[in-house]
Amino acid sequence: MKEKMSDIKKTEISSGGSRPLVIAGPCSAESRQQLLSTAVSVAEAGVKIFRAGLWKPRTKPGGFEGVGAAGMEWLKEVREQTGMQIITEVATPSHIEQVMKINPDLLWIGARTTTDPFAVQAIADALKGTSVPILVKNPLSSDIDLWSGAVERLANAGVAAIGLIHRGFSTYEHRSYRNAPLWNIPMEMKRRYPSITLLCDPSHMGGSRTLIAPICQQAMDLMYDGLMIETHINPEEALSDKAQQITPGELKLILQNLIIRENSQKIEGIGAYRSEIDELDDELLKVLSRRMQISREIGAYKKQNNIPVFQNDRYNEIIQTALKKAKEMDLDEEFVLSIIEAIHQESVRLQLP
Ligand code: PEP
Ligand code: MN
Repeated sequence: MKEKMSDIKKTEISSGGSRPLVIAGPCSAESRQQLLSTAVSVAEAGVKIFRAGLWKPRTKPGGFEGVGAAGMEWLKEVREQTGMQIITEVATPSHIEQVMKINPDLLWIGARTTTDPFAVQAIADALKGTSVPILVKNPLSSDIDLWSGAVERLANAGVAAIGLIHRGFSTYEHRSYRNAPLWNIPMEMKRRYPSITLLCDPSHMGGSRTLIAPICQQAMDLMYDGLMIETHINPEEALSDKAQQITPGELKLILQNLIIRENSQKIEGIGAYRSEIDELDDELLKVLSRRMQISREIGAYKKQNNIPVFQNDRYNEIIQTALKKAKEMDLDEEFVLSIIEAIHQESVRLQLP
């Protein structure tokens, strides 16, 4: 499998490797007029790849489910008129069979589809023998193996050019983002597949216009290769994902204002900080090891004396103390909470028979 993964070609997707590679266009193809007018303005903003969903996966029934194959000709016209490459979403072998008639330059697999290994396998089988590059969105849930499983299914089917689109993860609570970024998951994907192209989709992640620019900048600072940004000629009238679509003019401004930082010689200047961090990480691990050793000893005591492993009052006390200290020490409370929860969970695991 390792050799196969290293075959994943970056260049075919990144068209030259300069950052950011930008894909823009509406959430959905709605009409010929909407698609062409959006495309002309998006091309003026310097974009080279145009997106539009033909078949729209909607979580609930009753929403706009896309124009389907009827929009294929419009996409072809976009390519002919603007010279941009075209990309659309496929979720079934039938979508692939239909869309291949217009020779799409790229295809993407949506978040709902990546969640389903049967669907991904069916797509991988349908792509056998074709050479179209595929971008795989992260699955809805934060199960990284569903994402890497999809990459491996495609690679096994011989799809040579595979990229990733990070669009955030569904959570029960909705905070400021429509889909929680959980940046560590795409970072781990990059660690597993170092040469893979990684794009960020700030539109589905943020879910609102105002969040597009800051998320794009964050993605650039995390060394993402590119961005997929939903852009509509008239977002207020969009038939899907209206709150998160921006105009081509707004897109142009966002792209112009992006600061692209590249690795350079100056990286050497952080060497001293890094040594200090390495030492601190080492200390943290030693402290954790001592902490778990004590947990094991308490576990043995509880067992001998027939005391239940989980003590709700004690757990609550640990959390409250940590939260109080977090404030005093200028640490983010949610961050501290997640660490204390993870440590407690590990202690409980060690103490259970
Ligand atoms: C889309 O790109 O319009 C889409 C449906 O995205 P996702 O699969 O990320 O929800
Ligand atoms: Mn959308």
